[in-house]
Amino acid sequence: MTQPKHKVVIFLGPPGAGKGTQAERLAREHQLTKISTGDILRDHVSRGTDLGRQVKPILDAGQLVPDEILIALIRDRLAGMEPVRVIFDGFPRTLAQAQALDMLLEELGVPVSAVPLLEVPDELLVQRIVDRGRQAASAGQTPRADDTEAVARERQQVYREQTQPLIDYYSARGHLRSLDGVGSMDEVYNRVLQTLR
Ligand code: ADP
Repeated sequence: MTQPKHKVVIFLGPPGAGKGTQAERLAREHQLTKISTGDILRDHVSRGTDLGRQVKPILDAGQLVPDEILIALIRDRLAGMEPVRVIFDGFPRTLAQAQALDMLLEELGVPVSAVPLLEVPDELLVQRIVDRGRQAASAGQTPRADDTEAVARERQQVYREQTQPLIDYYSARGHLRSLDGVGSMDEVYNRVLQTLR
């Protein structure tokens, strides 16, 4: 892949689609910084910061943290970054966040490069999340508090209501690249790479 100075990749897709896994590898292999808002928020929760205490009940319920908090977090992360070479995983998740991100990028003079959309049928999603929770537990790790069936279903519902409109938003701007998110990690990764060519 040619490496333009700036690169902004936004992963879209429902909870359980595999955004984090794919974004992680893409970041590693293409010298990009992965900005995963879920990881950032969970880190605050585990360190018990003021922000962590504020957002914990929201994460546990599978709801969205207020836009202002996310927008401030992202503004901080992008400040002083030069060149801007990032992959967003889990942000933006609402129209307000997408508009705020566009304004931030405009201030920085950096365009969106591509928005890969990982498509996975609904019936596979909750199962993947519940499996991930069980695997973590059986490996002796603490599973994510929101990787239970009930909360996973709530997260899907929130995705349909609040995040799916972003598909039209990025499609209208010519950035959307849909891909099949079902297959092995390598298969899906190769499809991701194709969307970036
Ligand atoms: P998943 O995509 O599997 O739901 P994430 O790790 O991306 O997992 O997000 C976990 C939780 O963190 C979300 O359910 C939500 O509570 C919070 N969160 C993450 N990103 C955002 C965001 N951009 N806006 C609001 N809340 C967010």
